[in-house]
Amino acid sequence: MRDFDRDLAAELAAIDAQGLRRRLRAIDSPQGTRIRINGQELLNFSSNDYLGFASHPALKEAALRAVTQYGAGSGASRLICGSLTPHEQLDQELAAFKRTDSALAFSSGYGTALGTICALVAKDDVIVLDRLVHASIVDAARLSGAKLRVFAHNDIDDLERILRWAVTRNSGEAKPTVSRPRRILVVTESLFSMDGDQADLGAIVELKDRYGAWLMLDEAHATGLYGSSRRGLVEAHGVSDRVEIHMGTLGKALGAAGGYICGSRYLIELLINRARSFIFSTAPVPASAAAASAGIQLLKSGAGEERCRLLWQRVAQFYGAAPAKLLKRDGSAQSAIIPVQIGDEAEAVKTAARLQQQGFFIPAIRYPTVARGQARLRVTLTANHSSDDVARLVSALFN
Ligand SMILES: *Cc1c(COP(=O)(O)O)cnc(C)c1O
Repeated sequence: MRDFDRDLAAELAAIDAQGLRRRLRAIDSPQGTRIRINGQELLNFSSNDYLGFASHPALKEAALRAVTQYGAGSGASRLICGSLTPHEQLDQELAAFKRTDSALAFSSGYGTALGTICALVAKDDVIVLDRLVHASIVDAARLSGAKLRVFAHNDIDDLERILRWAVTRNSGEAKPTVSRPRRILVVTESLFSMDGDQADLGAIVELKDRYGAWLMLDEAHATGLYGSSRRGLVEAHGVSDRVEIHMGTLGKALGAAGGYICGSRYLIELLINRARSFIFSTAPVPASAAAASAGIQLLKSGAGEERCRLLWQRVAQFYGAAPAKLLKRDGSAQSAIIPVQIGDEAEAVKTAARLQQQGFFIPAIRYPTVARGQARLRVTLTANHSSDDVARLVSALFN
């Protein structure tokens, strides 16, 4: 073995020893409630395809049409010659759907967070994150060079304490090195990806306004699922107009792939000029943009509404049948993400393997996705699960 490989093998062995080794599994089927791995059909409770759009005929046909009309590849970044009609249409669909002036799609949600946060804050600014925000936001905050502060999960008093500090710091320090006032950016998720609980949006918008901060809200797991037009938890809480930067993904309820920012036209113009993950990256393939647009249209339709209704019916069924004391969260805050807490990493992997033998696919979620010692099964329900699927799940998990 070369020194190079010996070094890496030792690191992998250390990951193994902590029960944290990750491996790819080849899924030999489309996304759906049934997936095939190594010839075994499994009942899938791990997908973020909450409404079953990923394999929906409307999205598949839109993708195929885009390939026929615009080709397989996009040729260059959006700013060179890659800004094709499907990309332009997607930006417009997003803005209309979220009822903002403007919108911009990115090739991933991860890249959206990275490009946007680094475009908005720098060394002299303060960025404030909820303890449990997604890795893409943490990485972006670090890369931005802004002063990073973390508030305890969903703890409004802790957030206020930090905002008070940030205001004092920003007004107290010597002349900023950038030629603009210092900024304070608060970033949180509206529905937390690994716990399924919700941010107190009403209190957060009050606070950030009072302290002159801006709010970036990641609705990766809420877009398409909440509010009477399914625009997300901002709609459900009536705070849409008070959020400066709306972020979301196209790869979850919307059934395609990519990320987006919605907001004012100044915000979007600035991102086009400053978001490096947007500027220096080839545009998504036309099929991907077209599928996402079709996902938004489907979501807005009666069929989308019906899918949503079915999803919440399955969620209610699960909470009605599951023993509450074994769950991290009760069913009162409606969410399709259900964490079944295990704790020990190796134990979680063993439980997942046992479930797989019984025909269920629910991978263990471990550090660094969640904190050490907080390994869990992250169960997700979708609109396409039947009530029999949910009944089988409850009996496999709790009997
Ligand atoms: C999935 C996710 C992202 C990243 O989006 P991708 O399109 O998968 O890169 C960002 N934020 C949250 C909360 C997510 O769950």
